[in-house]
Amino acid sequence: MKTTLQIEVKKTDHSRIHETDFDNLVFGKVISDHMFVADYVNGEWTDLRIEPYAPLSLNPANATLHYGQSIFEGMKAYKNDNGEILLFRADANQKRLNESAARMCIPELPEEIFMEGLLQLLDLDRNWIPNKPGYSLYIRPFIFATDDYIGVKPSEKYKFMIFTCPVGHYYSKPVAVKVEQHYTRAVEGGTGAAKAAGNYAASLYPALLAQRQGYEQLLWTDGKTHQFIEESGTMNVMFIINNTLITAPTHTGTILKGITRDSVLKIARDWGMQVEERFLSVEELEKAIQQNTLQEAFGTGTAATIAQIYKINIYGTDYGLPSKPADSFSYRVLETLDNIKYGREEDSRGWIIKV
Ligand SMILES: *Cc1c(COP(=O)(O)O)cnc(C)c1O
Repeated sequence: MKTTLQIEVKKTDHSRIHETDFDNLVFGKVISDHMFVADYVNGEWTDLRIEPYAPLSLNPANATLHYGQSIFEGMKAYKNDNGEILLFRADANQKRLNESAARMCIPELPEEIFMEGLLQLLDLDRNWIPNKPGYSLYIRPFIFATDDYIGVKPSEKYKFMIFTCPVGHYYSKPVAVKVEQHYTRAVEGGTGAAKAAGNYAASLYPALLAQRQGYEQLLWTDGKTHQFIEESGTMNVMFIINNTLITAPTHTGTILKGITRDSVLKIARDWGMQVEERFLSVEELEKAIQQNTLQEAFGTGTAATIAQIYKINIYGTDYGLPSKPADSFSYRVLETLDNIKYGREEDSRGWIIKV
């Protein structure tokens, strides 16, 4: 790979890879040896470097700690049978990071810094992706304010960082979800479309209340009427009713534009499936369950790719969803996406970058 950017590389002299138990990886707990860092000062991104993963030293007046001017991304890299690293749709993550940045008054990060930093980091830590089926490397790029000033205004300094976590075979357990009627994740004009740290902080409490009642996730509804289904907070959600795939549209700015969502919709359309990007009302969903026309319900996101929904609580009533035949759309689309990600199927859509 040709490098135009100056990235200083400081390698660790104590790799942790041999102390790592790859058979018992807990998502997000094990971090690979190195991290990529760039600083924004005096109006430009400078001091690009890869260094050993280590704690940061921060001034207590750091603007992120007080006002949450912070955004992130999440994506994955996989290894094919030849040991090559395959990166899935990283260009889409790069673009989305800058869309989040614009909303949060964070300066845009040039594409080449994101891509070069990422590719060099992956190359250096390539042994952290075990050559075993089902394993992958979760990649966490993020930008946060670093001004040491507690006045409320956009920070003048930022850090962009990337670190990675090996993740084991991800069996995504089917989830029980609850339709949220009171709390709100996003409203029109708010920050719901940005992958902003604060969106997560605000959703922890309602999610905790639902978890105490036995539901893994919430089905967020629109902030004004709570009558239309939006998404699940870490996943977009899709329903198949009468052979039509229905998912919430993104034009209201209240839905995170999931890259898995986009990939599933593209494949569905390629397969000739009827797709509707529109708001589905809770009432319509309940009717479809009662009339047996709801065929599938699932979440889409980078961590699980597809998470089956087996139970939905609607305004206090639990509806168990029947288990699906093996040729259901959600199983087939998961298999196709996995085949593309691990290089077992031709990448006709240009989604894979080889490292
Ligand atoms: C990241 C995220 C998703 C899923 O997006 P992917 O790009 O598919 O991983 C869905 N909803 C929210 C709120 C998210 O932050």
